[in-house]
Amino acid sequence: MIKSKDIWVLGDYRNYFQSRVTLQILARATHLAERTGGQVCAVLFGHKMDEYAGEYIAHGAAKVYVIDDPALKIYSIETYSFLMTRLVREYRPETLLVGATRFGQEVAPRVAKQLKTGLTADCIDLEIDDKGRMVQIAPSFGGNLVARIITPEKRPQMATIRPGTFQELVHDAKARGEIIRLPLPMDMPKEKIRCIFSEYKPSKTKGIEKADIVITGGRGMGSKGKFKKLFELAALMNGEVGATRPVVHSNWINHGALVGQAGKAIRPKILFSFGISGAIQHTAAIMDADFIVAINKNPNATMMKMADVAIVADANQVCSGIIRAIKEKIRD
Ligand SMILES: Cc1cc2nc3c(=O)[nH]c(=O)nc-3n(C[C@H](O)[C@H](O)[C@H](O)COP(=O)(O)OP(=O)(O)OC[C@H]3O[C@@H](n4cnc5c(N)ncnc54)[C@H](O)[C@@H]3O)c2cc1C
Repeated sequence: MIKSKDIWVLGDYRNYFQSRVTLQILARATHLAERTGGQVCAVLFGHKMDEYAGEYIAHGAAKVYVIDDPALKIYSIETYSFLMTRLVREYRPETLLVGATRFGQEVAPRVAKQLKTGLTADCIDLEIDDKGRMVQIAPSFGGNLVARIITPEKRPQMATIRPGTFQELVHDAKARGEIIRLPLPMDMPKEKIRCIFSEYKPSKTKGIEKADIVITGGRGMGSKGKFKKLFELAALMNGEVGATRPVVHSNWINHGALVGQAGKAIRPKILFSFGISGAIQHTAAIMDADFIVAINKNPNATMMKMADVAIVADANQVCSGIIRAIKEKIRD
């Protein structure tokens, strides 16, 4: 098979409702392919995935390679990395991109290792340089630097992309694409780990990456009990709650709410930031917020300087005050 210039995106459809990262990557890949030539192709492994294949085409994929088999109904890291490696060896795409979800974080390194190529983890942007190579842009050195990484010789160029980094294309129901159905190889490896049962529990919330209003809280909220007020505020505003790393580490909220280099990037229309200092590892992920309201006792906190509205006050008092005001408004 001849080497192609195609950009491949491995479909992370199991996370579809929590994170639309595959669609976001397809959008960026479409943009990159305008410079490099080649097609944007998605890859799907699993069972009964036609809906997703159609969705990927509606969001920019020219082709979707599908291996659909009951044997793939339950996800297995060994199987998925074997299949991905096999397809890359056969079709030789120039680039392979995967969402930096838990799925992507475990599949991508295994595939890169088997293909003996490089992998940049957790990219926050992708560009094409003058030589047509993909520049993989990712935070490094604890987030204090943003590194621009290329894969000089080996192919495919591989990267995982942080969810929420790119904006998906508008769904185009008229888009035409090709679905290429491939059989499950006869020589599948014998699995060392066997999953006996798995259950899908859909999230009740839409998630911070997709929310128009995000209420973030930091250590300045003071305690788990006080932090809970942010949930009440979010419920009244139909928003979602995000947090900084110390808050997540203190177990005031689960890891899915972490905003920042080690968590998610968000792009809300309004972001409230309560008691957050504004470390680079956090702020790197809120750059696309349209409007920021920060509440902090310290007027010189970085977060206050980057806010559109900075309120120098106690975070708990302001939070309680807004809750009260909204409730009064609802009663009127
Ligand atoms: C490799 C690495 C990765 C990291 N990844 C992330 C990440 O993904 N996300 C992340 O958030 N962090 C991350 N961090 C941690 C980051 O560097 C900061 O330590 C963290 O963001 C600080 O959180 P904070 O603002 O809640 O706490 P602090 O820095 O302690 O700030 C608390 C703020 O609250 C204010 N305050 C205190 N009391 C009150 C009050 N009563 N009312 C109002 N304001 C008050 C203070 O003035 C202060 O500005 C990472 C660090 C490293 C090294």
